Amino acid sequence: MTDPRRATPRTDTVLADPALAPAAARLGRDRVRTVVRDVLDRCRAGEVSPDEVVPAALEALPTYASSLRPVINATGVVVHTNLGRAPLSALAREAVVDAAGTTDVELDLATGRRGRRGAGALAALAERVPDAEAVHVVNNGAAALALAAACLAGDGREILVARGELVEIGDGFRIPELLESTGARLREVGTTNRVRLADYTAAVSERTAFVLKVHPSNFVVRGFTSSVPVRELAGLRHDGAAVPVVADIGSGLLAPHPRLPDEPDAASTLREGAGLVTASGDKLLGGPQAGLLLGRADLVERVRRFPLARAMRVDKLTLAALEATLRGPEPPVLAALATPREQLRSRAVALAGRLGAGAGDAGDAGAGGPGTVRVVETTGAVGGGGAPEVTVPSVALALPAGFAEALRAASVPVVARVVDGQTLVDLLAVAPDDDDQLVASIHEIVSAATVLEGKTSRTGAV
Ligand SMILES: *Cc1c(COP(=O)(O)O)cnc(C)c1O
Repeated sequence: MTDPRRATPRTDTVLADPALAPAAARLGRDRVRTVVRDVLDRCRAGEVSPDEVVPAALEALPTYASSLRPVINATGVVVHTNLGRAPLSALAREAVVDAAGTTDVELDLATGRRGRRGAGALAALAERVPDAEAVHVVNNGAAALALAAACLAGDGREILVARGELVEIGDGFRIPELLESTGARLREVGTTNRVRLADYTAAVSERTAFVLKVHPSNFVVRGFTSSVPVRELAGLRHDGAAVPVVADIGSGLLAPHPRLPDEPDAASTLREGAGLVTASGDKLLGGPQAGLLLGRADLVERVRRFPLARAMRVDKLTLAALEATLRGPEPPVLAALATPREQLRSRAVALAGRLGAGAGDAGDAGAGGPGTVRVVETTGAVGGGGAPEVTVPSVALALPAGFAEALRAASVPVVARVVDGQTLVDLLAVAPDDDDQLVASIHEIVSAATVLEGKTSRTGAV
């Protein structure tokens, strides 16, 4: 046998192979060279024969353009922060691709002059919330709140806020620290569980910049509690002048939602008298990551012209996706929340049937096929730090516990959850268009298992 080190082809020779040309054009020569070098190392180690270098390199090339790849959200959590929160609608994805190249984001093509950046997205937002005199969009919900605080209170003035609303939003970030980082001072009123209008009235002074109302979106305080609605806060005055109310509603619902009665929405909050409402774009609005500011024209204009606003400016891709979300069909997040359980059950039964055709009852739950693919009822959640008490009726395919890890390793990964020794592939947040891919991903891991031969499957429904 020849020494594999001597038979190993040169990098340039492999790179010149016409079979690799399309990959070099798509991914860049450097990227392909890195992959080829890795394969040549394996060739030198005798793991890949010289004839197999090109096919092995083709096999090892990345499928996706970046390290972010599509995954199927089978967690039963509709807005999953670790999975990119709201998936965009088909129309919003189209808008992102259209705007990705050179685009008229700040040019009026009719006059050839500079146009207002994101005018279309802002107009769409204003039209959806007629109660807002003006609107502005920044990078995310936290930025919207920070900008309001920096602009209106960053000179050391006070923000009045109830102790029970000093929320940690996630990943260790806390609203009080965020607000203080802008130079504003917090004046806490009330106690953890109770606050009254009188607490606010007693705290208002010439130092007060605004009253902040934060929706405690990710927790619930129950029992001996009281809080003051925006309607009453809006009546607060100092020396006869109204004190503005800024309301961080969090989830980005623009109008009341029948399935989420406790979730505040922008229109109602403005009608109650809030001067500014801040919210996220990628929670219940179902759009891209963005922070919305809606409200009084004078406040929005101040915020928009404040220097820090430039550091929070949204990208053209965000503006495109936001506009298409606001004007387009019901986004996937809201479609998921509106899906009746019966519909999920029919899909689940059909999927279980298709899986039964190729999947086996392996007997060995850990290593083999899915075994009995059962259709079970589950309760899903809204997620994204929203509507913590709301449970959403859903349906899942139940597979053995050991499948969760394998499903995440499929070429299109499926993220399921493990409950009571079963892997639940919950359909609540899986778009119906992804059902074929879901079946393909499950089949892929099942056929990768070795113990399928001759087994038959049982599929069943509740
Ligand atoms: C989610 C949330 C935020 C943070 O918004 P991001 O878009 O994640 O920056 C702030 N306040 C409330 C009440 C929230 O629910």
